[in-house]
Amino acid sequence: METTISIKQLSDLESEKILKDKKISRLKPVSCTQCGETTGFRRKLFQVKGVPQHARSDDDVQNVIRHHLKREASIDFAFFKTYKNKCIVDTASCCNCGSTAITYDIAFDSDILSELSKSTGKSESLLLKELNSISKKIK
Ligand SMILES: [Zn+2]
Repeated sequence: METTISIKQLSDLESEKILKDKKISRLKPVSCTQCGETTGFRRKLFQVKGVPQHARSDDDVQNVIRHHLKREASIDFAFFKTYKNKCIVDTASCCNCGSTAITYDIAFDSDILSELSKSTGKSESLLLKELNSISKKIK
């Protein structure tokens, strides 16, 4: 069976609506890898169609989509998310230098901690400690 993947940029209105969703907004742009700017990123969201749900997290599939975004829209970094069963690609550009190589961070709010705590069986304070030491290592 032949599948066709389509990538469509969402309108500002649609993007705004999706970005209001807590699960989507947790992973958010925090700094520009080119100039170091940390605020005022312009978000651009795309919807990907034609990828079966089980294949959405495949590296190969994501790389094809990344390659397409790079070629067609000059987008360097893209983040894959699921919103209401749709495959959404989240990208950001720097308001200062226009770069799209923007680093994203997960904001660990109390909701995500309580979810993690339930799924791992660890206390929230222990998780926070572990997460902080991981993020120090990455930086
Ligand atoms: Zn920049």
